[in-house]
Amino acid sequence: MNIVLLGGPGAGKGTQSDKLVDAFGFCHISTGDILRGAVKAGTELGKKAKGYMDAGDLVPDDLIIDMMKERFQQPDTAEGVILDGFPRTTVQAVALDSLLAELERPLDAALLIDVDPEVIVARLTSRRMCRECGYIGNVSDGDTCPKCAGEMYQRDDDNEDTVRNRLDVYAKSTAPLIDYYRGSDLLVTVNGCQEPDKVFADIKELLGL
Ligand code: AMP
Repeated sequence: MNIVLLGGPGAGKGTQSDKLVDAFGFCHISTGDILRGAVKAGTELGKKAKGYMDAGDLVPDDLIIDMMKERFQQPDTAEGVILDGFPRTTVQAVALDSLLAELERPLDAALLIDVDPEVIVARLTSRRMCRECGYIGNVSDGDTCPKCAGEMYQRDDDNEDTVRNRLDVYAKSTAPLIDYYRGSDLLVTVNGCQEPDKVFADIKELLGL
């Protein structure tokens, strides 16, 4: 199955991807995770992307599309992928369509995790992540990851100003993809304001998993 996850920053795309991977072994591709890895490793891509990411702006389409073309060359993508954070613009969505057509792998669904923007601000400013295993938690987890005992930290772009900018960017550049995928009959919507396990149960039902 090839699935695009849609939804604003903090809608729960990472959390639901983790659940889908744990339950079904899908290959999860998060462009945000790849970019954060590139920044940490100090690669050319990381150097180019860092300023955009810190401001909550989108990294230019050509960099993202080249990065994803390379990622799709890896064999773990062949059985199906969950795309988390890509596409984020119509240009990226069109590029994904051609890439999948070239690889003869159809897109099965675009799953929108729908959450109210004010809920997102509260969620993201209290979000914490594990440096070691990538676990997504909350300020209530304290400094230690409940999964692997690694160090919990706050993402640079999870402060309130940047979160509000990321929401504006989402509304302007990414929300139009909802109509894009509705037009090709691939859109399914889940209410993301519920408990994560309930969201996951709904997703399984919607996708027939
Ligand atoms: P995320 O972890 O998905 O919230 O992404 C964190 C940041 O990485 C975003 O705010 C953007 O700066 C950048 N980013 C991630 N995915 C993309 C993408 N598909 N297109 C452009 N920028 C991206």
